[in-house]
Amino acid sequence: MKIGIVGAGMVGSSAAYATAMLGKARHIVLVDLDPALARAQAEDIAHAMPFAANCAVESGEYAALSGVDVVIIAAGVSQKPSETRLDLLARNAAVFRTVVGEIERHAPAALLLIASNPVDIMTGIATRLSGKPAGQVIGSGTILDTARFRHLLGEALGVDPRSVHAYVLGEHGDSEVLAWSSARVGALSLAEVAAQVNRPLDAAIRARIDTGVRRAAYTIIKGKGATYYGIGAGLTRLIGAIGNDEASVHSVSILTPEVAGISQVPLSLPRLIGAAGVLADLPPELSAEETAALRRSAKMLKDTLDALPLA
Ligand code: ADP
Repeated sequence: MKIGIVGAGMVGSSAAYATAMLGKARHIVLVDLDPALARAQAEDIAHAMPFAANCAVESGEYAALSGVDVVIIAAGVSQKPSETRLDLLARNAAVFRTVVGEIERHAPAALLLIASNPVDIMTGIATRLSGKPAGQVIGSGTILDTARFRHLLGEALGVDPRSVHAYVLGEHGDSEVLAWSSARVGALSLAEVAAQVNRPLDAAIRARIDTGVRRAAYTIIKGKGATYYGIGAGLTRLIGAIGNDEASVHSVSILTPEVAGISQVPLSLPRLIGAAGVLADLPPELSAEETAALRRSAKMLKDTLDALPLA
C-alpha cells in the first residue's frame, strides 16, 4: 500500500515511523509546508528501515501523492496568544482548504485520515471540502481515548486490555462520553467481572478512570509538550485495517447523519473499517444518562462546525 502524510510534524512523523516500522505500507510520501522538515523526517525514518521492514519513505510535493490509497492529514497551525478557539479553527480551516484541494487534485481516489485537531471539526471540514462520501473521510477521533479507557479498565480488573470491549464516544475532547453501561470483559458486564475477580469498581475508581481518560492529553502535554506516539500508533492501526480490508471495529469520527437527535455532526462511534473506509456504524446501547451526555457532545460539535464561515 502507498500512503501519503501531509504535515510532517510530531504527529505526522510518528504515524510515518510506526507505519514503516510495522511494515503496514510499502511506500510513504511525506509532504509539508516546510520541505526541509519533510525531507529530514523521511530520511531519518528511511534509515530505520534496514532494521525493520521493506518500506520506501520519501518526501515530495503534492504531485508525489499520485496513486496513494490513503492520505493522513496531520497539518495544522498552533494557537497564538490571545487567539480564540474559533479564530484558530478558522485558520486551520484555511490550511485545510489548500491541503484538501491539493490532495483532491493529485490523489482524488484516496481515503482521507484526519489527525489535525480539533479532530472532529477538522473531519467535518475535510468532508465538506473534499465532496467525498462521509465514510471516506475518517478522523482519528476517540481511537486513542478508547485505548486509554481499555488500558485503565484492564489495569483496575487485572485483565489484558485486549479482552476489554469498551468505547469512548462523541468528541475527542472534554465532552467525550465513556460508555460504561455497554462495556464488557469477555461477554460479561463490568459489574459481573468485578465480582468474579473480587476487584469492585466503586465510584472512586470509576472517577479515577474517567479523569485518567479525559485528562490524559493534558497530563502528557504538561510533561513533554505534545502527544504523538499514541496517536501515531492509532493512525497506523487504521492504516492496517484499511490496507488489509479487515472489517475491524474502531471508534473513529466521521460526519454522521444522526446521533442522539443531532443531524450531520462529526463525532466518534464504534465503526467497521475496511478498504472502502467506514463500512458500517455500530453504536452501542447507552443508558439515559450516557445518551444525554452524547447529545450534549454532539450539539456542541455541530454548533462549532456550523459557526465556521467556511463550513
Ligand atoms: P503536531 O504536534 O500536531 O504534529 P506540529 O506543529 O509538530 O504539530 O506539526 C504540524 C505540521 O503541519 C508542521 O510541520 C507544519 O509545517 C505543517 N503545516 C502547517 N500548515 C501547512 C500547510 N498549509 N500545508 C502543509 N503542511 C502544513
